[in-house]
Amino acid sequence: MKYYDKLVFELSKEGRCGFSLPLNSFPSGAELPAALRRESALELPEVSEPDVVRHYTNLSQMNFGVDTGFYPLGSCTMKYNPKINEEVAALQGFAGLHPLMHAGLTKGALRVYQEMNKALAAITGMYTFTFDPCAGAHGELTGLMIMRQYHMMRGDLGRTKVIVPDSAHGTNPASAAVCGLEVVEVKSLENGRIDVEALKPLLGPDIAGIMMTNPNTLGLFETQIEEIASLVHGCGGLLYYDGANMNPLMGVARPGDMGFDIMHLNLHKTFSTPHGGGGPGSGPVGVAKHLEDCIPDIRVSGFHGNFGVILRAYAYILALGRDHIRKVGQYAVLSANYIKESLKDVYKLPIEGVCKHEFVFDGLVNDGAREGVPGATTLDVAKRLLDYGFHAPTIYFPLLFHQALMIEPTETESKETIDAFIEVMRKIAAEAAVDPEILHGAPHCTPISRPDETAAARNPILKYQDA
Ligand SMILES: *Cc1c(COP(=O)(O)O)cnc(C)c1O
Repeated sequence: MKYYDKLVFELSKEGRCGFSLPLNSFPSGAELPAALRRESALELPEVSEPDVVRHYTNLSQMNFGVDTGFYPLGSCTMKYNPKINEEVAALQGFAGLHPLMHAGLTKGALRVYQEMNKALAAITGMYTFTFDPCAGAHGELTGLMIMRQYHMMRGDLGRTKVIVPDSAHGTNPASAAVCGLEVVEVKSLENGRIDVEALKPLLGPDIAGIMMTNPNTLGLFETQIEEIASLVHGCGGLLYYDGANMNPLMGVARPGDMGFDIMHLNLHKTFSTPHGGGGPGSGPVGVAKHLEDCIPDIRVSGFHGNFGVILRAYAYILALGRDHIRKVGQYAVLSANYIKESLKDVYKLPIEGVCKHEFVFDGLVNDGAREGVPGATTLDVAKRLLDYGFHAPTIYFPLLFHQALMIEPTETESKETIDAFIEVMRKIAAEAAVDPEILHGAPHCTPISRPDETAAARNPILKYQDA
C-alpha cells in the first residue's frame, strides 16, 4: 500500500517535537510589552522532523511534474529546466534585493535587464523590451495597450477592432476584450493557416491590428506572413506576434524581420522556468523602433516584473550561447515530427506535412465503438496515459478539431523517452480497439481517479477535512 492510499493528514501526537529554539536571549526589559504577548501557547501540529519531511515529500509525489516524467502538454513547452538556473536565481546578491533599494546597490540587477534586453532583441529582431508583464497573457494586454497608444498618439481614434485567427490561444481574444478592443475572428484554411482571402474584407479604418501566433497553435508555420503584413500595414493596422511558441524559431527566424511591430515572449516556457503550477512567469514585450514611445508609462505590474524568472532566462541564454540556441528548435521540431509520423496510422492526423514544435491529432483511428459501448475519446486517451506514467498532452484545444490531442515533446527528451511514449500511445490505441471500457475508467493507478470537473469547480474542497 502506498502512503497516499491512507491520505493521513492528522499526524500530530501530543509531546512530539521537530524543532528546538534557543532560550530567550533578550536582555531583561527588552521583552515584548505584556499587552502584546500571547496568553496561551500557539496550537501547532506536534510532529517529528522525519514525519514532516515524509509528509511533504509524499504529497509532492502525488502530482506530476517535469522532474518526475515526460510532460508533452502542447502549447505549454514543458521542457526540462536546468537546475543551474535555480542556483543563479537564488544567489544572495540577487535574491536579497528590494526594488526600493538605492540604485547604487542594484547595478548588477540593472545590468541583467540591460543584457537581457539586448539578447531578446537579437533573438527576435525587436528594438527594445519591457520586462514588466508577469505572464504571456499579461504581455498580450501590455502589447495591445501599446497598439492602442500608437493609434491614439496619431489621432487615429476610430481603430477599435483587433483581428484574431480562430486557431488562437484563448488568451488572445480575452486580452483584446480586457483592453477594450472588439475581437473580429478570421478563419483558418483546411491546411491550418490563416485564410488571406477571408482576411481582406475585414481590413479597414476601424482595425487596430492583428494578433498572430507563429508557429500557430497547430504547430504550423504561417506561410503567408509577408502578404498578411503588407495587407494589415496597408490598412493602417499593426501586427502583434504572440511569441509563446518561440521555442522552434530561436536563432532561426525573427518576428522583427517578418514585419511584426509588437510581440511578447513567454520566458517561463521558451527560456526554462518551472511553470506547471501556474507561475511565477514573465512575458516581456518587445516593440519595433517606431513604437518605443508607446510603451505605457503606467506600470502594468509592481516594479519590474518577476526578476527571478528573468534571471533564469538569462542563465539559460548564456549557457546556450548564439551557436547553440538554434539547436533547441531543431531538436524540438525533430521530436515532434518523429512522434507524429510514428503514430499517424493509429491516431487521426487532420493536417499532413512537416510541423514545427508540436502537432494535433483528432482522436483515434479506431475508437472501439460498438453496439451499446461508446468509443474511446481524447479524454480517455489522456487519462489512460497517466496510468502508464506520462502526463497527458493538451486536449480539446485548439477548437478546430472535436477530438484535439495536442502533443509538444520539446527538445529536452531523450530518444528512449520518446520511444517509450510512442509505444504506450500505440498500446492505448490497441486497448481502445479491443475494449474501450478500460479507457473509460482510467486512470486506475493514480491517487485520484477521474474527478468530476464541474463539481470540482463549483464545490471545491479546499481543506483536507471532510466538509
Ligand atoms: C501559454 C500561451 C499563452 C499565455 O501565456 P500565459 O503565460 O499562460 O499567460 C498565450 N499564447 C500561447 C500561444 C500560449 O501557448
